[in-house]
Amino acid sequence: MTETVADCLFCRIVAGQIPATVVAETEHSLAFRDIDGQAPTHVLVVPRRHVPDAVSLATASARELADVVTLAARVAAEEGLEGYRLVANTGAAAQQSVFHAHLHVLGGRELTWPPG
Ligand code: 5GP
Repeated sequence: MTETVADCLFCRIVAGQIPATVVAETEHSLAFRDIDGQAPTHVLVVPRRHVPDAVSLATASARELADVVTLAARVAAEEGLEGYRLVANTGAAAQQSVFHAHLHVLGGRELTWPPG
């Protein structure tokens, strides 16, 4: 599996070629603030390796998927969130716009359901 893709936005953020506000990281994952925050806390957690979506990451490496989810929980704790939402938009029809796996960590305001 390809580790990085030259024209992938999140690969370029992981490589430090595009600036981002990094809030936490591990050997396998990086967490940085969304450029268009939809809540007081809106952080994206991505695997360092390039895979197109969260399901592909589960297939490639359950350990790396667990690392992304665990880092998301650490970010939520460090942001002081009592409750939060983890979102993995999967496919263009679900509004996925960047095809490098990522979890949105959303919190810091009342979150309604259904999400729309
Ligand atoms: P998706 O729509 O694929 O689920 O989520 C992609 C997210 O990436 C969006 O929430 C969007 O605001 C965010 N995003 C797009 N471009 C950039 C960027 O250059 N920097 C950062 N930090 N976030 C970005």
